[in-house]
Amino acid sequence: MKKYDYVLVGSGLYAGVFAWYAKKHGKSCLVVERRSQPGGNIYCQEIEGIHVHQYGAHIFHTSNKKVWDFVNGLAEFNRYTNSPVACYKGEMYNLPFNMNTFHKLWGVCTPKEAMEKIREQQADIQGEPNNLEEQAIRLVGRDIYERLIKGYTEKQWGRDCKDLPSFIIRRLPVRYTYDNNYFNDRYQGIPIGGYNVLTEKLFAGCDMELGRDFLEDREYYAEAGETIVYTGPIDAYYGYRFGKLEYRSLRFETEVLDEPNYQGNAVVNYTERKVPYTRIIEHKHFEFGTQEKTVITREYPAEWTPGTEPYYPVNDEKNAGLYRQYYQLAQNEAHVIFGGRLAEYQYYDMDKVIESAMNRAEQEFGEK
Ligand code: FAD
Ligand code: UDP
Repeated sequence: MKKYDYVLVGSGLYAGVFAWYAKKHGKSCLVVERRSQPGGNIYCQEIEGIHVHQYGAHIFHTSNKKVWDFVNGLAEFNRYTNSPVACYKGEMYNLPFNMNTFHKLWGVCTPKEAMEKIREQQADIQGEPNNLEEQAIRLVGRDIYERLIKGYTEKQWGRDCKDLPSFIIRRLPVRYTYDNNYFNDRYQGIPIGGYNVLTEKLFAGCDMELGRDFLEDREYYAEAGETIVYTGPIDAYYGYRFGKLEYRSLRFETEVLDEPNYQGNAVVNYTERKVPYTRIIEHKHFEFGTQEKTVITREYPAEWTPGTEPYYPVNDEKNAGLYRQYYQLAQNEAHVIFGGRLAEYQYYDMDKVIESAMNRAEQEFGEK
């Protein structure tokens, strides 16, 4: 008999949801986290009474009622609706691409006029779009592509839009209504009190070791638990034996400002290539804060190198092929469960990570 039923590697949402189910079924869990605090990418640091999203702005949205009910059972959510604004050469445009954007850009007032404009501009893209550039022009025309997409995307991914897969841009809605809601999902909000409220509930009753890297002490942890739930990068688990998967990383610069309202919105994107950051987040607006000061974060995209944080998997063909090789190895592990954004190498939103962990846990514990 080992000391724990499960050793969870990482303390993000995947591990948290799995741990919550494990405890519900009377199992014991040890959590190993290499950072000095739990929560993975949803961790919030409190500065000047404001919950600062330390690893990038996180807005919860889902159409999955089961997931929504689950998170609402842990924390109460506010009515925040994400409506970012894009700044291009000092002009402000509403996102996602909708009638407000089209009106600002072309002076058109009706959906018919907007569609006509886009039809004219997409005429040179024939057949199935082969890459992000073609997909973007097909969706919204060349003007929007050049002002609001090209610069932002090339900064974000460090690659030419012609070398990126088209699905990245299909994440964004295109609407012929005057609706600035960034998401199409049925449910949306921010947990009141910040995301740490969720983390505390998910891991309640688990033993936790912070500032410890599982990969540096594998034998010890293999001895400690019957099953490992691994949520770190899958290639690192296998010592990069087939090569390194690529990621995009980010650098955050956070500042406290002695004013109550810096930009009037939680998210402002900077879509010009020559502005080095992609967006400025003003955290208090996620929770309608009325503090005297404000905290802003500039988000700079960065090349990922081992030792820096891997934020976004780069889901192109080369990396997909490499991932498949690691996935084959993972299939043969009897006592290791791989899950989450890094172990599944998927560009997952929070709700998808929760769904994936719920499914795996229900399978593990025979629940339906
Ligand atoms: P993570 O949260 O990354 O947790 C993995 C944990 O494992 C980390 O804490 C890591 O330190 C730890 N770990 C890794 N290796 C080891 C090791 N060897 N030993 C010990 N610990 C280890 N989703 C949304 O739904 N809405 C959003 O608005 C949104 N915004 C985002 C913005 C940014 C900038 C990013 C990067 C992501 C965003 N996401 C958003 C996605 C969201 O962050 C993820 O879906 C979710 O947090 C992933 O949870 P996870 O448990 O898979 O991974
Ligand atoms: N995007 C863009 N301009 C913007 C915002 C987004 O071109 O002002 C593109 C960019 O390619 C980005 C993708 O849309 O990678 C998805 O954006 P999203 O906001 O969903 O990215 P995330 O929140 O995951 O960083």
